[in-house]
Amino acid sequence: MKCMSDLLKGKNILIMGVRNKWSIARGIAEAAWREGANLIFTYQGDREKESLLKVTAGMGEIEAYPCDVTNDEAIDLLFSNIKEKHGVLHGLVHAIAYAKSEDLQDSFLNTSRDGFMLAMDVSCYSLVAVSRRALPLMTEGGSIVTLTYRGSVKAMQGYNVMGVAKAALEASVRYMALEMGPKNIRVNALSAGPIKTMSGKGVQNFSDILSVVEERSPLKRNVTLEDLGGTAVYLLSGLSSGLTGEVIYIDCGYNNVGL
Ligand code: NAP
Repeated sequence: MKCMSDLLKGKNILIMGVRNKWSIARGIAEAAWREGANLIFTYQGDREKESLLKVTAGMGEIEAYPCDVTNDEAIDLLFSNIKEKHGVLHGLVHAIAYAKSEDLQDSFLNTSRDGFMLAMDVSCYSLVAVSRRALPLMTEGGSIVTLTYRGSVKAMQGYNVMGVAKAALEASVRYMALEMGPKNIRVNALSAGPIKTMSGKGVQNFSDILSVVEERSPLKRNVTLEDLGGTAVYLLSGLSSGLTGEVIYIDCGYNNVGL
């Protein structure tokens, strides 16, 4: 099924973070594609490119560039390719995070210096790094969307350094919104409830977390890629034109429940 109502028709949107069919970025890409967006993807290496091509097969011929977000030259090359091909960028979806598995198993106090820096670099600084390069291409205004989790504001067993990185990511969203707002570029974070992806499965007792949310959330279920895709389309489109610097919870209402 292609266009529903063309909410993103004619918009060039960069999607970073499609690893496989379970990826949140895959759900967002599909929803944006249905709304008529021109999608540009990134991948890390050749193996990831193959997987990207497989999961986007239904979206026609796709445009994709390699980009490891810890590498400034790779980011520069990505944006110079986009500038050359499109001139203008309207949207950016940043669905990227990484922490060493030992830093999500052991105690938070035992986080190593390099594990801490790596998690902050990939999961937080990368948003700043890519948005700075996107800015000169967003000449018609723009919308930047990143993904966060409630472990940024509550201490959650096993989320550890990633919770700290997400707190910094959410603060970055507010600072970037302030600085980019005068150019009509909006920056928001979508705080997703737990969802089974490769990254999600790296978190200790992940299936227990899913069960608790299903049992206690007002909607009595976990979020789906369609839930997240729909909200991302809203954030990327003119429907959310007055909204910036926000963290929006899409978690079936779980964050609003006490016990
Ligand atoms: P995912 O499918 O594993 O996606 C994570 C993506 O990050 C992958 O595409 C991975 O690329 C990319 N990545 C990691 N290091 C990178 C680097 N150095 N350069 C470029 N890309 C890199 O998992 P996901 O759950 O959809 O995660 C997307 C976002 O949602 C993350 O920010 C995550 O924290 C957030 N989130 C997830 C949940 C959840 O429960 N799953 C909940 C709330 C928020 P490769 O495939 O090349 O490694």
